[in-house]
Amino acid sequence: MSSSGDARRFVVQRHRARSLHYDLRLELDGVLISWAVPKGPSLDPTVRRLAVRVGDHDLDHLAYEGVTGAATADGLGDTIVWDTGTWTGEADPVAALDRGRLHLELNGTKLRGGFVMIRTGDPAAERAPWLLWHRDDEHAEPGWDPEQHPRSIVSGRTNDEVAADAEGER
Ligand code: MN
Repeated sequence: MSSSGDARRFVVQRHRARSLHYDLRLELDGVLISWAVPKGPSLDPTVRRLAVRVGDHDLDHLAYEGVTGAATADGLGDTIVWDTGTWTGEADPVAALDRGRLHLELNGTKLRGGFVMIRTGDPAAERAPWLLWHRDDEHAEPGWDPEQHPRSIVSGRTNDEVAADAEGER
């Protein structure tokens, strides 16, 4: 039986650390395969985004929203769950990742439709560069800008509001 139809979870977090980026995380074999996307994903099929592969994260990051004060390399700052949902991919996504060419279908609230991810740099590099783009399918939207959709999909808050709420709890 092909596993191509199996829906796994994904999350995209908007994370204001030392610099703003979006963390794209795909559930696969019990972990979250992760990329940092400095400019965020777009539905515009003409837009190619840099996506830097980073270390796998635990599944509890699927729902993480809040403020981290610890000055880890990437952990500092405020995070919202910018989008979440399920994804489907090829029959063997592990092989696709190894090959450096992944086709995926996202079924989120903001992000829907087909995306392509291609590794453009050294696969052995600790932070290998990939490119991410939306396919020109029925969910494509020319001109679509992630920064114009700034609220959490779970709490409705912006990063500023998450930061302010954490300040108020101190
Ligand atoms: Mn991050």
